Amino acid sequence: MYCRMRRPPSHSPAGVPPRSSTSPHRCFGRLRAALFCGPLGIVLAPACRLRQKGLERASADCQSGSQLLGRTMAKLYFSYAAMNAGKSTLLLQAAYNYRERGMRPLLFTSALYVEDGVGLISSRIGISEPAELYSAGDDLYQSIKDLHEESKVDCVFVDEAQFLERDQVWQLARVADRLRIPVMCFGLRTDFQGKLFPGSMELLAVADVMREIRTICTCGAKATMVVRQSMDGRVLTDGDQVSIEKSVYLSLCRKHWEEAVGRWPVKGPR
Ligand SMILES: [Zn+2]
Repeated sequence: MYCRMRRPPSHSPAGVPPRSSTSPHRCFGRLRAALFCGPLGIVLAPACRLRQKGLERASADCQSGSQLLGRTMAKLYFSYAAMNAGKSTLLLQAAYNYRERGMRPLLFTSALYVEDGVGLISSRIGISEPAELYSAGDDLYQSIKDLHEESKVDCVFVDEAQFLERDQVWQLARVADRLRIPVMCFGLRTDFQGKLFPGSMELLAVADVMREIRTICTCGAKATMVVRQSMDGRVLTDGDQVSIEKSVYLSLCRKHWEEAVGRWPVKGPR
């Protein structure tokens, strides 16, 4: 099923901020001149420069592997980060590199918070792409195999990969191993309580290549944790990993996350 554009959801999952309803949905190609230079897709935008190495490595690994050299190996990649690190931007840039070479990327995102049954991967910098949706219980190996038989797929991209089921991670591993299609997953490592998401846990266990996409805390240190706040600014420490309530998510370093959620100073005997 190919999906049409959708409006951003009005609520937000754990670790996933609501997309701005005012963000223009722009054609990715319009940013081509600003973001890319030449057939190798070199990122020029200063804001993206810090992430360039990771992106180039990811694209190069994917494209210089089985796809371009005719080898039989393909890998399962997991790029993880806290909130607002630019995961979706990197995904869309890498997918664009494939298209620019006349290759076919296949994009997936979680159906958990989709309205009207249509999928869209969108970035905070204002670019977006339609995507297939995956839900609990879907057989991703079979879905991708069917689409690959219809028309050759050169790389699979999965956004919101923290919401994958553990079985689905293995299905994606089989896509790499048996269909020989590289699979690049992007997602959050931990939820607002500092616990691994199931999909992220399995990806950390079985992915061939893992990469951390960095973002920073307000103190300037690397942000690795996420806090959930209510709309009035209260830090929430209880609740479901996947929340349908309106929330705000912030990325903090571990030290400031412990303070924000009330774990420090430690209460009682140390
Ligand atoms: Zn900090």
